[in-house]
Amino acid sequence: MTDRRQDAIAQAWEGVLATARRTAAEGLVVGTSGNVSARVGDVVLVTPSGVPYERLTPGDTVGVDLDGRQVIGRLAPTSELPLHLAVYRATTAAAVVHTHAVHATAVSTLVTEVPAVHYATALLGGPVRTAAYARYGTRELAGHMLDALRDRTGCLLRNHGTVTYGDSLDQAFERTAQLEWLCRLWLTASSVPGHRPSLLSPDQLRDVQDALEGYGQPG
Ligand code: 13P
Ligand code: ZN
Repeated sequence: MTDRRQDAIAQAWEGVLATARRTAAEGLVVGTSGNVSARVGDVVLVTPSGVPYERLTPGDTVGVDLDGRQVIGRLAPTSELPLHLAVYRATTAAAVVHTHAVHATAVSTLVTEVPAVHYATALLGGPVRTAAYARYGTRELAGHMLDALRDRTGCLLRNHGTVTYGDSLDQAFERTAQLEWLCRLWLTASSVPGHRPSLLSPDQLRDVQDALEGYGQPG
């Protein structure tokens, strides 16, 4: 492996660990729940299965190829490897974040699509779907997730949690945080007795999507 490639992998692993620790620090997972990955060329760096994130060091790097064969490290990769690899095969994602965020997981037990109570819906590509239930770590779950992700950058997994992806670890993380916030907002608004939250129409969401192209600082 060239020095440049080794540096890129070391840097991406630092990012994977920082992002995984952030999911725990911000209360989006408890214990060893959830997992994070980042793609560097044809290698996917993934958190190992069942190891607390604070214990992981630069020497614990885990990498697999797009067929799931381990090419870096000795720790066993996350049990959700099929889910992460499915996203990389189907999209241009550079990073994937899976959590058990509590409000999003609560919503996954209630609806097949997160009602569009806020324009943050557009940040995920439109109303976020709930993937049908299958046991954690299965190819079946990965398949249901891909169905739910069509034209979206995030989805809920029924009775389980969230999946988001992005062009960077920061973007994938930010989408998880927004999705959790959106679910919390809907739960709050829909729990007022005798009232139903108003929703944004598909036209209003399209309008937001157009406006968001110019959001933030130029350049
Ligand atoms: P891993 O510890 O194997 O990553 O599993 C956590 C999880 O969230 C499974 O869905
Ligand atoms: Zn999980």
